[in-house]
Amino acid sequence: MHINDIMATDSPTFSFEFFPPKTPEAADALYQTIRDLEAYMPHFVSVTYGAGGSTRELTHGLVERIQHTTKLDPIPHLTCVCHREAEIEAILTRYAQSGIGNILALGGDRPREIKFDPAQDSFKHAVDLVRFIRRFNESGVHADRRGFGIGVAGFPEGHPATPNRLTEMDHFKAKVDAGADYIVTQLFFDNRDFYDFRERCALAGIQAPIIAGIMPITSMSGFKRIAELAAGSRFPAKLLRALQRCESDTEMVKRVGIHFALEQCHDLLDNNVAGIHFYTLNRSDATRMIFDSLGIPRRRQEKSSI
Ligand SMILES: Cc1cc2nc3c(=O)[nH]c(=O)nc-3n(C[C@H](O)[C@H](O)[C@H](O)COP(=O)(O)OP(=O)(O)OC[C@H]3O[C@@H](n4cnc5c(N)ncnc54)[C@H](O)[C@@H]3O)c2cc1C
Repeated sequence: MHINDIMATDSPTFSFEFFPPKTPEAADALYQTIRDLEAYMPHFVSVTYGAGGSTRELTHGLVERIQHTTKLDPIPHLTCVCHREAEIEAILTRYAQSGIGNILALGGDRPREIKFDPAQDSFKHAVDLVRFIRRFNESGVHADRRGFGIGVAGFPEGHPATPNRLTEMDHFKAKVDAGADYIVTQLFFDNRDFYDFRERCALAGIQAPIIAGIMPITSMSGFKRIAELAAGSRFPAKLLRALQRCESDTEMVKRVGIHFALEQCHDLLDNNVAGIHFYTLNRSDATRMIFDSLGIPRRRQEKSSI
């Protein structure tokens, strides 16, 4: 089922993001986490995609395992980096045959660990991938005659590669206009950034629903890693002050991080957010604690069918 179909009957959506672990053992542990979260019946779960060959196969494998053995709707991330058109087509065909309903189409992070020549990539920007998936959708390979639903990434605080925010919005609108059904945002810690982004999108004529990306901080080391990975993220003084007060107490740091994310979620729900997407870092405890405190009734709906 397309995300838009889900949103038409059940909004806001709640979703969880996982990344493929590097080893089969870690993949089994993650699979257990996913089963723990299955009881919450999120509207979808998404699986990230890296640039290395073996981790890519782990993404495909995890997506198919979730699809075939759980009640969850998995959404694979797919990136332009390190891919030729024929490879993307083969992956789309494989996902279509597995009955996957949606794809998150991304530019992708440049790999650090392998040699990378961007000139070899068939697609330069996510907009090109969105256009290609749209064309693929017309091929009739997918059992849903509309093909895949398509999501794209949004950056409330701006994407570092385009410092000119007006130009950036032009690129972003072109990507959505190319055929994106929904938007999932980069994580943020100040909801005002999200609301402002949502308003700027509306002013630009972007109507696709915007799902807010939330990452609960659960450790000081994780916090520092986020600052590195989500370059440009702003950390409000309120959050920094609270973390500073307890930084030597690992349990307290986790509680502070979860409490902060919970307050963000309450505020987003009060302000008509279309959906909340949790960056779980492959752990279920923080997400479960937040979910339990939001007062959201458990969904009963079984896995959606095409
Ligand atoms: C929800 C979410 C999930 C993610 N999952 C993954 C993942 O699984 N794997 C991964 O590798 N990365 C992932 N990322 C990171 C993402 O791929 C990188 O941040 C990437 O740099 C940007 O991706 P994009 O899809 O926005 O790319 P694009 O839309 O291609 O944008 C990238 C940059 O190019 C600029 N740009 C776009 N079009 C043009 C144009 N025509 N001319 C000039 N400049 C242009 C944009 O303004 C922007 O600065 C994720 C990010 C988010 C928010």
